Amino acid sequence: MAHDWQNKDLDTLHEMLRKKEISSVELTQEFLNRTKQTNEKLGTFLTIDEDVALNMAKEADKTISTKGPQSKVHGIPVAVKDIILTKNVKTTAASQLLKDFVPVYESTATSRLWNHGAVLLGKTNLDEFAMGSSNENSSFYPCKNPWDTTRVPGGSSGGSAAAVSAAQAPLALGTDTGGSIRQPAALCGIVGLKPSYGRVSRYGSIAFASSLDQIGPMAKSVKDTAYLLEAISGHDELDSTSHASAPFSEAKLSWNTRLDGKTIGIPKEYLPDTLDSAVRENFEQSVECLRNLGATIKEVRLPHTEFGISCYYIIAPAEASSNLARFDGIHYTSRWGENQSLSEIFVQSRTQGFGAEVQRRILLGTYVLSSGYYDAYYKKALQVQQLIRQDFDQAFAEVDFLITPTSPFEAFGLGSKSKDPLSMYLSDVFTVCISLAGLPAISIPCGFGPNHLPLGLQLIGKHMDEAGILETAYAFEQANDFHERRPTC
Ligand code: GLN
Repeated sequence: MAHDWQNKDLDTLHEMLRKKEISSVELTQEFLNRTKQTNEKLGTFLTIDEDVALNMAKEADKTISTKGPQSKVHGIPVAVKDIILTKNVKTTAASQLLKDFVPVYESTATSRLWNHGAVLLGKTNLDEFAMGSSNENSSFYPCKNPWDTTRVPGGSSGGSAAAVSAAQAPLALGTDTGGSIRQPAALCGIVGLKPSYGRVSRYGSIAFASSLDQIGPMAKSVKDTAYLLEAISGHDELDSTSHASAPFSEAKLSWNTRLDGKTIGIPKEYLPDTLDSAVRENFEQSVECLRNLGATIKEVRLPHTEFGISCYYIIAPAEASSNLARFDGIHYTSRWGENQSLSEIFVQSRTQGFGAEVQRRILLGTYVLSSGYYDAYYKKALQVQQLIRQDFDQAFAEVDFLITPTSPFEAFGLGSKSKDPLSMYLSDVFTVCISLAGLPAISIPCGFGPNHLPLGLQLIGKHMDEAGILETAYAFEQANDFHERRPTC
């Protein structure tokens, strides 16, 4: 059972640090202890480096003792998905190929976080190279859902979601290419935000699909999510796709508990007849709650939604096949076929170093980019992506936000979908189109399913309107107590 302090929000921890009721070292040690006690059961972390964590906490305490905490994340431990480079701290992307890889530089998002005084608690488990929806594609060990350890936490940022949910860390960073922050956040009962494409620098995030990848915050509450987003966002000249107006300031938000004057659209395509009845019922209750808070609810159409999964599973593997070409057994770490020819080293390292799902994506991606198939698949997918974007533009001419369920089902059993890639891919049916359109979206806890497992509500905003979705999510959160319920592991 989690201690009381482990569930405190950032405002409270910040006050405790300011009043010197607790130090960053004490706080970090408490979270480290909790993590060590529960990691074997949950498989959340791949690397925990106590020395690094405690040294960073000591540094934070030095400034806090004279000047007080300088930001909401100052002195606060953060769990970081193990696909984000941390200088001198092993970063594996959960792949055998990078099992001993120690980066020589820091990602922009984490270096901003450390500049704000946050503390690196450890590196969290994921699906290998962020490809998956259950964390079972980790080549080390699967991560388990803290609400029910026979079930998956979702993926690919499953370790980060489970760490926050199980109170091993107050905050975590994930990455989201087609749903990897939002879906695990939903399945673990926490908040997760995929920023607009360009809001957070991708520099130092091991690339999966560069035109879709975004690093984003995961936390127990909407406010904490906003604080973490503020600490990592901003234009970065090291990432040419980062947006000029990327800085995000939490101070500009108005934390109202009413939604009068806001119009929220419900895309009909996200409520198909086949939708799980418990998910539908829960969604209808969420809509009712938003209406009671003063929002105007309107039905809208996103007619190209049905092509989202096919389109994503062409574009993302195409980019992955190109991005992953750099892992050849010569650069970076692990090598197979040591004393053989160069081409033998390439073949053996890539065959033995990459897991089955990563190989499937590389094959798919290479196929859709190859001559003769490029026009039929890749080019066609890019055209469909344009249509999906236009759908959102048209919907946003009528409404301020859109809402959908985050996941079509609650957390599923470990192993129940791993033999059937297509059914696994369908886990992302409600998240991929938003990624293809480059829009910001947040998943917030909105109740529990038939097995008493958390469900998530996805709120989608216009490009760069993180402020709007956070404000709306906050009003919903405050009207309910879902975010306060924690698993008892
Ligand atoms: N589950 C999706 C996939 O397997 C999304 C992954 C992600 O967002 N990184 O590609």
